Amino acid sequence: MKLKIVQAGDPVLRQAARELSHDEIRSAPVQQLIELMRETMRETMRDAPGVGLAAPQVGEPLRLAVIEDRAEYVAGVPGDRLAERERSPVPFQVVVNPRLTPVGEETRLFFEGCLSLTGFVALVPRALAVRVEGLNARAEPVEIVARGWYARILQHEIDHLDGRLYVDRMLTRSFMTDAAYRRHWQERPIEEVCAALGIAPP
Ligand code: ZN
Repeated sequence: MKLKIVQAGDPVLRQAARELSHDEIRSAPVQQLIELMRETMRETMRDAPGVGLAAPQVGEPLRLAVIEDRAEYVAGVPGDRLAERERSPVPFQVVVNPRLTPVGEETRLFFEGCLSLTGFVALVPRALAVRVEGLNARAEPVEIVARGWYARILQHEIDHLDGRLYVDRMLTRSFMTDAAYRRHWQERPIEEVCAALGIAPP
């Protein structure tokens, strides 16, 4: 592990992170932080699905996150499950000082986990589509329009910058260990999971 990922309970995960200036973004320490976050995110893939990492998760209260969803991460996942989640590869990307706006009213409900809540997952409703405006790693303005799993990743990571965790948004009756998820629920349609867990689908 290149950087230590802090776990729920660490104060840094509950504070609003601060914005970075253009000069700070281009500075050597922040460029190095981005590189280390990229390496750390990739290393986590050995045992957990880390498709995004926000700076507060490595102890830095900065409005910065890295995202990457590679095709190899979902090798072996059935095509219909990927299609249901609208999940396709997302190239490595850095978002700085992002502002997120939902696009449309539609939401989707799926299980998600977090590298700062190791070993657990829960059903979390998220906007199906979002627009994100912010800066890239060169401090240039970028606008991202995303839907499906990509939109979910952005919402999850940008929540971290506001001191929010998925447990704040989850359907609490669906909170479970990753092992139980894989054993009992992973293969079942979400409507069936909701019925079995006593959850009224939102
Ligand atoms: Zn997270």
